[in-house]
Amino acid sequence: MNATPAEQLRLLELADLDTRLRQAEHARANPPQAARVKALIEQRQELSRELSNRQGAVEEMQAELGRIESDVKVVRARQDRDTALLQTVSNPKDAAGLEHELDSLRRRQRELEDSELEIMERLETAEQAVADQARLVAEANEEGARLSGEAKALVAEATARIAELQRDRAAVAASVPAALLSMYDAAASRSSGAALLRARTCTGCNMMLSGTDLNSLRQLPDEAVATCPECGSILVRTGESGL
Ligand SMILES: [Zn+2]
Repeated sequence: MNATPAEQLRLLELADLDTRLRQAEHARANPPQAARVKALIEQRQELSRELSNRQGAVEEMQAELGRIESDVKVVRARQDRDTALLQTVSNPKDAAGLEHELDSLRRRQRELEDSELEIMERLETAEQAVADQARLVAEANEEGARLSGEAKALVAEATARIAELQRDRAAVAASVPAALLSMYDAAASRSSGAALLRARTCTGCNMMLSGTDLNSLRQLPDEAVATCPECGSILVRTGESGL
């Protein structure tokens, strides 16, 4: 394969653009926030589950409180009825029965009011626990939204860079003869494609060429396309090559 030194130099531009394209594609596929976002999604599921548990506990206590309040109403109505009755009965035995019932109603009322106070205290603690958990969920949501936004911006940036690099690559590739371009593409599938020979070293694989290989290169005309015996990249020779 023959190509002018200028055409061979263009392969270095192509290899550089391909390297930058791979980097941009890697950046687009792997935004650094992705791992944390994934962890946050899992964490948020756990936090939300705990939030539902705590909300469930509050609802149970509210229902219990409602039952006690309605029991209190029933007891009070009974007390009002008995108190009114007591004004009207003349039979001492009936009056004593009513007094006795009023006594037990008062005891019952005290018990209910004690339970009411106790459950109200527990409810207050449980409501605080719901608020604390809701704050943790909100914090996880906020961090997730912020990091997702940052990741999206990076992906958009990388996507724009890729489009630009692809345009540049197409322009350079159009200026390379077709046969040389397919030789480059074949080499690029298993190496850096094309590399500068600098100070007797292939910049594609960073191996210094042996004396025998350097001697063969010295005898090769400038137009002949050489390849690195180590990595298979097209080896581009310039004044820096140390030949
Ligand atoms: Zn090499």
